[in-house]
Order: sequence, then structure tokens, then C-alpha cells
Amino acid sequence: MQQTKVLVTGAGGFIGHALVSFLKARGYWVRGVDLKNPEYAPTQADEFELLDLRRWPDCLEATRGVDEVYALAADMGGMGFISAHHAEILHNNVLINTHTLEAARRNGVRRYLYTSSACVYPEYRQMETDVVPLREEDAYPAAPQDAYGWEKLVSERLCMHYRLDHGVETRIVRFHNIFGPLGTWVGGREKAPAALCRKIAYAKLTPDPMIEVWGDGEQTRSFCYIDDCIEGIYRLMRSDYHEPLNLGQDRMVTINQLATMIASIAGIDVTVRHVPGPQGVRGRNSDNTRLRAVLRWEPAISLEAGLAITYDWIESQVQAAGGMQDAGELVSHAG
Ligand code: NAD
Repeated sequence: MQQTKVLVTGAGGFIGHALVSFLKARGYWVRGVDLKNPEYAPTQADEFELLDLRRWPDCLEATRGVDEVYALAADMGGMGFISAHHAEILHNNVLINTHTLEAARRNGVRRYLYTSSACVYPEYRQMETDVVPLREEDAYPAAPQDAYGWEKLVSERLCMHYRLDHGVETRIVRFHNIFGPLGTWVGGREKAPAALCRKIAYAKLTPDPMIEVWGDGEQTRSFCYIDDCIEGIYRLMRSDYHEPLNLGQDRMVTINQLATMIASIAGIDVTVRHVPGPQGVRGRNSDNTRLRAVLRWEPAISLEAGLAITYDWIESQVQAAGGMQDAGELVSHAG
């Protein structure tokens, strides 16, 4: 049988890099595309091209000769980034997704998986910490909090129409806060788990460990470990399900609880100082009813197990940075 050829966009990023390794281990021929090479480990892709997917010619180049596309490229980050760059995010991501999908169609790509986000869900359903878990149909009537979520919603619909009008087999996954090693941990685009791991790793080097958290820290989220995320993406791509599907854990914790768990993994007591800052919605959780029904599977790696691996990796990064002061005060979280 001929080897299936796939393109992973955003392959220099956190989830894309891990997906390339997963697909290589399953015998696929893989092309990775990104603006940058992976920062923390070499890619295992057969071919890795530095391209700017906002540009139409680059999208044609990226999608040539492949059977399937996993579209992960996006201009994105944690809450600090998302809440401060609306125009840039909407502009860049509309161009990336519109051009990549059309180029895939022109090049005869058969399957196309689009990575959407829990940020599509309306703010009015996420006003309490003890929030009702979000079902896929809750996305409408639409009222995402940020431009990031609006763009994801529009690109979901673009996928739907390309399937109906052009016959491209599209898949749409809505991630809920993916975390793990080899992801951005410093610089302003990092999300809550990585930011908290970094801050606690730096605090551990001081005699009186203290970290800052934006808001009162009572805002709630669920967090899904990278290995479960990759498994879920792959299962969805292989399925015949073409409606949007949540992919996340359905165990909700507060940001304060997350900080306590990481401090315990680090083996220290830490004082938390609450400071003003963007917090995103007040509460968010995934309803996994449809995920279980469609994929006959759901994420199983515990938050504690995932955080232990993530913290160890970030602590080693902090140590490698060698006595540098904590560069940022960001404790952001996915929208
Ligand atoms: P990431 O930022 O680590 O990876 C995205 C990659 O896209 C980056 O490497 C970036 O350089 C690349 N990119 C940006 N603009 C580009 C362009 N013009 N051309 C080519 N490449 C470009 O993010 P991630 O966490 O790996 O996220 C992957 C996908 O999953 C994204 O679509 C993101 O919106 C979505 N998502 C992630 C999460 C999460 O918790 N990580 C949650 C919801 C949705």
C-alpha cells in the first residue's frame, strides 16, 4: 500500500511538533510547515518548510502532493496575548485558514482537520466559576469573548461549507487548554500551566517563594495533557464525524488549585499574590458526552501526572537559563 502523505501546519509549535512525532511513529510521510523551526527539539518530519501561511503562494507550496492536512498554524497565545492583540489575531488567522483550506482543495487534499478552540463558546455561558460544562451545540447563538474565538468560529463554518460545497472531508476539533512539555513557557504567549510552572520553578530558587496570579485565582478551567490531545486528534481524523467536537478533560480546577498542585510537585510552599490582569471567562469546562460517543474514547491522563512531567521539563529549562530573573510576570490562561 502506498504511504499516506500528510501536511502538519504549525509544526514548529507545541501541538504540531508532537503530532509530527506521533504520525511518523505510525508510518506516515510527513511534511511540517511553520514560520519557525521547533524551539525545543528537532522535528521528525520527512520535510520541514519555513513558509508564511498568510500568503497564498506559500499555502499552495505547503499543500502540494499531500493526501491529508492537519491545520494547526495560528497566531495565538495565553489570555495575556489573546486579550491584547485582537486585530493581529483576526487578520493573521483569517488569512492562514482561508488560504490553507482553499489551497488544499485546489491541490486535491482528501481530508482536512481544523483545530478550533473552546474560545468559540459564548461568554454568557461562562459567567460563573461553577459553570455548566459546554456542549458543542452551546456555541450558538454566538458571542465569543475575543477576536480569537470569533475567527475560530468563522473558520469552523468555512470547513463546513468546503465539505458541503466542494466535498473536502473536513474535521473540526475544539481544544480545551492543552498542556505539556516542549510548549512555550516564557515570552508572553505561554498559558496558565506553563506560566505557573515557570513562576514556581523560579520561586523555588528564592528563600521565600512567592508568585503572582492574575485576578482572585478562582476562575476555573479544565486541562488536557498533550498525549491525550494527539491521540484524540488522530482518532477524529480517522473517524467519519464532521461536526465540531470538544477535546479536553472534564475535570474543572481553579487557577489557585492548579498553583497548589504545581507547588506540591515542586516540593515547596508558595505564597500567592493576586494582582489585576486579564482573566478570560470566569469558568469553563468541557462536556465530553459527544466525544465519548463519537470516538469511543476520552482523555485519561490525570492532571497530576501531566503536570509532574511538565513541571520537570520547565524546571530544567529554568535551570538551563542559569540564574536569570523570571522574565515575565504573566500568569495567563487559555481564553
Ligand atoms: P503554538 O503557538 O505553539 O503553535 C502554532 C504555530 O503556528 C506556531 O509555531 C507558529 O509559529 C505557527 N504560525 C503562526 N503564524 C503562522 C504563519 N503565518 N505561517 C505558518 N505558521 C504560522 O500553538 P499550539 O498550542 O500548538 O496550538 C495549535 C493549534 O491549536 C492552534 O490552531 C491553536 O489555536 C489551537 N488551540 C490550542 C490550544 C492550546 O491549549 N494549546 C487551545 C485551543 C486551540
